Amino acid sequence: MMELKIGMKPQVGGVFGGIRRLVARTSLVLALCPFALTVHTVAALADTTPPVVTGARVAGDEDRTRFVLDMDTQVTPVISGLANPYRLILDLPEVTFSIPQDVGESGRGLISDWRFGLFALGKSRIVMDLTGPVSVDKSFFLPAVDDQPARLVMDLVRSSPQDFAAFVETSRSVPSADSEKTASKSDRLTAPKNGDKPLIVLDPGHGGIDTGATSAAGTHEKAIVLEFASLLKEKLDATGLYDVHMTREDDTFIPLGRRVEIGHELAADLFISIHADSVRQGRKLVRGSTVYTLSDKASDQLSAEIAETENMSDVIAGVDLETGPGEVTDILLDLARRETRSFSVYFARTLVNELKSAVRLINNPHRSAGFRVLKAHDVPSVLVELGYLSNEHDEKLLISDEWRERMAGAITEAVHGFFRPRLARQQEAASQ
Ligand SMILES: [Zn+2]
Repeated sequence: MMELKIGMKPQVGGVFGGIRRLVARTSLVLALCPFALTVHTVAALADTTPPVVTGARVAGDEDRTRFVLDMDTQVTPVISGLANPYRLILDLPEVTFSIPQDVGESGRGLISDWRFGLFALGKSRIVMDLTGPVSVDKSFFLPAVDDQPARLVMDLVRSSPQDFAAFVETSRSVPSADSEKTASKSDRLTAPKNGDKPLIVLDPGHGGIDTGATSAAGTHEKAIVLEFASLLKEKLDATGLYDVHMTREDDTFIPLGRRVEIGHELAADLFISIHADSVRQGRKLVRGSTVYTLSDKASDQLSAEIAETENMSDVIAGVDLETGPGEVTDILLDLARRETRSFSVYFARTLVNELKSAVRLINNPHRSAGFRVLKAHDVPSVLVELGYLSNEHDEKLLISDEWRERMAGAITEAVHGFFRPRLARQQEAASQ
């Protein structure tokens, strides 16, 4: 039995970990030693096989709750906490979760709910929602014996808000997955603008540990919106008129603030966030596409609810909201913000006009609320709900190729409409 320390860097044990460490130590020698090439190739192969989580359970009661993961390789998690609401976060090297997606609904004792998934490149995460402040009484790894898999075991006991706050502080000093990932994403995304082409950022919502809405048939919003955004990118790219970027191209979680930053860093001319949410029970009849823009006060109750759900994304993934950039108050920024908002509204209206003749819309299809992902002060931004996964008719459309083609075609037309004056000016200048 091996005791685990809170705040340790995640490491993969076993043969793969050994090889990875070996490569790290020999990296300086690689250039000098021709034989090292073989070591490198072996490590590259080994690196493609992450450890597998084969089972998970929660046992115990409100006094002591045990969380168990069955695994094929030893991993050491970094354990941290977040309050408001109370959560416990386990950061792991990338692992494959070979367990049902809804296993987390079986929370008990001090864990009301938990979820898992890819958090960033090479990093997996487990987030537990807690019934109150807890402390990690014990955590250890049991190696595999006979037909029993290896197990990661964690025992939680009740604690006080003060003790939990102290734990949150201690765990915050550990380099988080968020900051490391942000740096690498930033390198990849700050490509120079390609000439004078308008730059469009498409933002498929959710991803990784944050699945978004789930339909009655089990379809995940994060997958639907990624597929749709890829199709839309293809269509826009095919026109040759725009430079199109996506905030994510795979099943990775991206914090809301980071999505906003991507638009800002790329100096995007338009930001389109794409979703297909569920509405609360009792509103199953709500259906049709909706275009949302940012406003301080929600246009209606449904929009307020949708924005509240969307803004939960970081809470679901265990991202610390307090470390995000604060609201900047500056008169010039305020002017920029106002101008950006009027462009956002102009695009939203253009889009609604195009969608009208292509797909079914909700009543009053242009709505507004306080969506955090639309808060870039310098990038016109809209959020499109393709439809609502809580409605079975909408769900059928969302997975139909014919509907997706029509929807993507209509959005492309709206983009043309929005940029037409600018493109015309450029053409005129070029012909002179
Ligand atoms: Zn969503």
